[in-house]
Amino acid sequence: MSTVSLDSLLEKSALGGRLTFEEGVRLYEDAPLHALGAAAHHRRMALYPTSDVTYVIDTTINYTNVCNVHCTFCAFFRPEHHGEGYTMSHDDVLGRVAWAAEQGATQIMIQGGVNPELRIEWFERLFRRVGVEFPGVDIHSLSVSEIVGLATVEGMSSHDVLARLREAGLKSLPGAGAEILVERVRKRISARKVKPDEWLGVMREAQLLGMPTTATMMFGSIETKAERIEHLDGVRRLQDETGGFTAFIPWYYVPFKTPLKGKESTGLEYLRVLAISRLYLDNVAHLQASWLTPGLKMGQLALFYGCDDMGGTILEERVVHDAGSTNEATRKQLEEIVIDAGFRPVVRDTYWNLRPEMALATAS
Ligand code: SF4
Repeated sequence: MSTVSLDSLLEKSALGGRLTFEEGVRLYEDAPLHALGAAAHHRRMALYPTSDVTYVIDTTINYTNVCNVHCTFCAFFRPEHHGEGYTMSHDDVLGRVAWAAEQGATQIMIQGGVNPELRIEWFERLFRRVGVEFPGVDIHSLSVSEIVGLATVEGMSSHDVLARLREAGLKSLPGAGAEILVERVRKRISARKVKPDEWLGVMREAQLLGMPTTATMMFGSIETKAERIEHLDGVRRLQDETGGFTAFIPWYYVPFKTPLKGKESTGLEYLRVLAISRLYLDNVAHLQASWLTPGLKMGQLALFYGCDDMGGTILEERVVHDAGSTNEATRKQLEEIVIDAGFRPVVRDTYWNLRPEMALATAS
């Protein structure tokens, strides 16, 4: 039993000191919520003393719902040959990119199921067209599962798939598909998905190829609290090695229409996860408020629990929506909640280059 007090651990982590795994579990489980939040907010303000809160104008295009992975927490996918399966044409995807670009989007997230009918050339042609027709839009797309699925279909290594897609215009990889990077959990909720080490391995490959990536955590299904810290620990170890994660994005499982079912996490649990993420991940620069599942008002509170970024405007999204989440927001609403919380909304791009002139609040 550790003799170090919770107050000492809060103080150490608020000043940027590294928490051990045991200390992380202890703080997460036992620290009073407001003290945990105050430490995380202190750390965030020390890292970014201005009142800026960044966001990116982006859209998510779920190009196919056909998937051979069959995660039990997912209400979006349809198995192969299912009557409700769809795959968008390149023209359809390009049409949505055009619409997003008109709204000012600088980033698109093309993401979908692991559809074995789609070959690597399909993605190369699509990315090249996006690059030619919309040079101001960065392609931040495909999860590790889709990369590994393509590698299987093509009989190639994931490294070579990444290298070819990078050549075709893929700029960075979103951190989707991490869920909880613990084998026990994945066996229960996504047995056919990439294993924890494989997820980290593909991220390492992308980062070493010069593609920045984000990391996510979907919590609130069947994992223990210690397993959430184990997930953070895996991300922290890889970040020590590569420095390639730009941001961490925890979001909670939406159970309403999924085979796995279960209960939705509370707002208080969401805030605890944010705060411990900011404190435990002492080497990941940005923490994103994933307001899509808990809603904009929780997203606003998140700004006092370690978050410095509101993520994307997510102009269109199906995966979380199909699981029963109904949240959406306009840019104006997003900026208003940031301003009402006492911060300044600043538009950024995928690489965190700030574009302050693009914020609506600045323009008006
Ligand atoms: S979460 Fe992704 S990989 Fe899993 S079933 Fe849904 S679409 Fe497929």
